[in-house]
Amino acid sequence: MGEATVRRPARNAFEAELIALVGAVYASHDGLAGRALVLEREALAAGDREYAALARLVVADLDNRGGRQNQGIRDAQAELSAAADRLVVAKAHAVIAGGLWRLGDNAEAVKHAYEADRLLTEDDPLVLRVDHAVILAAQVNDQRLGRVSHEEYRVAQRLADRLGHPDLIIANLNNWAWSCYREGDQPMALRLARRMEEHSAQAGHPMNTSCADTVARVLMADGQTGRATRVLEDALAHAPSTDVDAVPACLITFAEIRRAEGDVPGALALLERCRELTRRDDVPEMDAIALRLLATCHADLGNFESAYREMVEFHQAWTARRTEQSEALTSVTQARFAIDEARRDRERFRELAERDALTGLWNRRRSDEHLAAVLAAGVTPMAVALLDLDHFKKVNDTFSHEAGDCVLRHVGDLLHTLTGPDGHAARHGGEEFVLYLPLDPAGALKTCERVRAAVAAHDWSEIAPGLRVTTSIGLTSLRPDDDARTVLARADARLYAAKKGGRDQVRC
Ligand code: GH3
Ligand code: MG
Ligand code: MG
Repeated sequence: MGEATVRRPARNAFEAELIALVGAVYASHDGLAGRALVLEREALAAGDREYAALARLVVADLDNRGGRQNQGIRDAQAELSAAADRLVVAKAHAVIAGGLWRLGDNAEAVKHAYEADRLLTEDDPLVLRVDHAVILAAQVNDQRLGRVSHEEYRVAQRLADRLGHPDLIIANLNNWAWSCYREGDQPMALRLARRMEEHSAQAGHPMNTSCADTVARVLMADGQTGRATRVLEDALAHAPSTDVDAVPACLITFAEIRRAEGDVPGALALLERCRELTRRDDVPEMDAIALRLLATCHADLGNFESAYREMVEFHQAWTARRTEQSEALTSVTQARFAIDEARRDRERFRELAERDALTGLWNRRRSDEHLAAVLAAGVTPMAVALLDLDHFKKVNDTFSHEAGDCVLRHVGDLLHTLTGPDGHAARHGGEEFVLYLPLDPAGALKTCERVRAAVAAHDWSEIAPGLRVTTSIGLTSLRPDDDARTVLARADARLYAAKKGGRDQVRC
């Protein structure tokens, strides 16, 4: 079933659900994969392949955010290579950007983020534009260490405010605040953190854990450890689950606050809780960070043996993590290469299917297509010439079929060269060829004369001593009321006249 048969109301329902899902990814992941699968199934049942692909991309995005970037990127790449629809292409780029970014390949990620953003227009669902603008702003800033690039954040914030979705508003403020915090712009980071808290209060639900972590770090840097603690406790107790590393990150921040307050045993307890999660959910990067802090806490307590053991474990974990990450990136790159290769294969096969095997010129099928296209477009000037080698049967009989093949190949080379960059040559079968020359009648005649003379003057004795080859050519220019049949019939009549007139000549 084609897209045209999709009823409008169904499509509006699909769009509404997609918008809800894209927004919900920023709030809570609970139950989202199931909803996306339902959307995919219903879209497929309605014959709407575009929304089915978009639903699969929501699943791929959830995979990325759940620590399964390999899967997420691969699925998004598959959608990208199969997609013709602009929204699907844009979303696939956004998902690939998010996956690569989480794997640490910022440079590559940001290119996809640009594509994802660039492909959307004013008329597209606002939530998608916000989503892609938020991703672009975060990734541009991860790419540009040393200073905060505020412009992309401002653009994303304007869009998010217009949409009015609190989770997306807070998500962009979160990334923005984190960039400012990381680059040491504490006053700006504090202002943004305050805005996050205000929006969270307005929305009436706590910030998710990754946002709470940012706010807590900014507050901690400002010496407001009490408030930082409350934000973290609130999020850990009530916030819905999002990215798989968010709760461990909160617990690590919380442990740092406890340690800064002198409560090292409290910090140790939080880190143990953190490591239970990082091992259960397989988040090796956070596990390694927790281990390092654990070692520091043990050293604080004078427990140097534990501290030493944990540092060793940390180094092993970190090395393993880096190996794993680079392996993941390698496999993603390989998948990307395999997809490109498949596309190149398809192009190669299409190319082969259009070529004559002996001469490498266009075959009859491609030639007919070209003539139809030229006629449809009304290309002027355009001349068509039919060529037929003279007494070719005798060449085969006198010398050999192999010698005949050799002649055909050479003639193919000559035609390819002499038709020039704008012209085309095709083999219609046997020892018959067609030339398409975008030239006026005088220019076309000159080229055909040159072809005739080149064939006649060629030193064919290289193929067989005593071999001589000539050709007869019938030439005509396209007329406004021509179709393929009339053009070729006219050229053929002139070819026949050339044969009758003694061969080795051009008739027009
Ligand atoms: P004319 O000057 O009137 O065109 O004479 P001709 O002998 O060229 O014409 P005819 O149509 O009688 O013979 C064409 C010959 O071309 C017959 C066939 O053996 C040869 N031929 C067709 N295709 C091939 C090919 O792929 N390889 C070789 N070696 N010969 C071919
Ligand atoms: Mg013939
Ligand atoms: Mg012939």
